[in-house]
Amino acid sequence: MPATSQDLTLDVIRERFQELFGHAPEIIVRAPGRVNLIGEHTDYNDGFVFPAAIDRHVLMAASRRNDPQIRAFSMNFQQASTFALDRIDRVAEGPERWSNYLRAVAWALQQEGLPVQGLNCVVQGNVPLGAGLSSSAAMLVAAGLLMTAATGIDVERVRLALIAQRAEREFVGVNVGIMDQFISALGQKDHALLIDTRALTCEAVPLPASGVRIVIADTNKKRGLVDSEYNTRRAECEQAVHLLRAYLPGITALRDVDAEALQRHARALPETVLRRARHVVTENARTLESVNALKAGDIARFGALMNASHESLKIDYEVSCSELDAMVDAARSVEGVYGARMTGAGFGGCTVSLVAAEAIETFLQVVPERYRQATGLQATIYVTAAAQGAERLL
Ligand code: ADP
Ligand code: MG
Repeated sequence: MPATSQDLTLDVIRERFQELFGHAPEIIVRAPGRVNLIGEHTDYNDGFVFPAAIDRHVLMAASRRNDPQIRAFSMNFQQASTFALDRIDRVAEGPERWSNYLRAVAWALQQEGLPVQGLNCVVQGNVPLGAGLSSSAAMLVAAGLLMTAATGIDVERVRLALIAQRAEREFVGVNVGIMDQFISALGQKDHALLIDTRALTCEAVPLPASGVRIVIADTNKKRGLVDSEYNTRRAECEQAVHLLRAYLPGITALRDVDAEALQRHARALPETVLRRARHVVTENARTLESVNALKAGDIARFGALMNASHESLKIDYEVSCSELDAMVDAARSVEGVYGARMTGAGFGGCTVSLVAAEAIETFLQVVPERYRQATGLQATIYVTAAAQGAERLL
């Protein structure tokens, strides 16, 4: 069997584990990063998202220890970190901060009343860090799978995602939705998942088996404003629900409002809040329609909805930036690109494009060059395929 890049990584992590701990690992797990195809800024409005797991992942190898501590080594950071399970501290600064993601999951499992076992552990990943492809969710979900495998507990996947989300929210301290952990834990090869973030249910929808690729383009623009603007958008959505409730008493989130009802009560909202609400309401509708288009084999319609999503995020939600717009323009200028949009929180990070397989070569030549001309920045392009969610490999 020809070696895939995953096999190579497995060999490397096994070797490193043997060197560091003097024996072979007992358990190896893998959890992927993700890209969201459509459904942006809808997850904290109880809405719909449509992400895919990508073929880049975090690997963790481990063996059980007889004492209650975790001794971990990161191959990416070339850095060891050890912590005791009876008193898990957060690393506030310095080179061991990466280990917060392991600490967070051990802590969250304990909060849930689940046992955590002492471990030797090696971590290696090829999800780019901080690029918006959710290396953090890959870390957390891999850690959750590893730690529950070590104690022989089979935690249901949605619960695993919720534990990973709790870890990131309450221990790492980032106010995340459920999308990233959910898709990393439950993704399916060659499918995207329509996730109902209120019901915490999902439907796997097949992506075209051949002929179409998911292409991620990193603007390499540092995401500066994102935290404060993210909180502002959340507050504006809450304000919209609060004001609309006078007319639509049953609603608890923008998920419950459709475009027609919003239009009918538009005068109840300040102009900015109306535009924010309009993005969320139309994005939920676009996400559901895009899934229907995909099921009907209408990739062109799917791409058009991706394009419309970007315009809505740019104009109504105002979370794009000149670099994201330039990348999207460059992608759309290539024949064979069905659609292109910003993906993730915005203000930098990545775009996602759906590209005909035969147009990939042109895309790789043209898009970075046009992007560089427009912005002076270097793009990083990842041609990916929808991958399987987290799994135990050993
Ligand atoms: P994103 O999720 O967009 O990649 P985050 O800032 O949320 O960015 O998470 C990135 C952090 O996750 C890194 O700074 C590091 O602490 C941790 N991390 C991700 N992948 C790895 C890895 N392979 N090894 C160690 N730490 C990792
Ligand atoms: Mg993250």
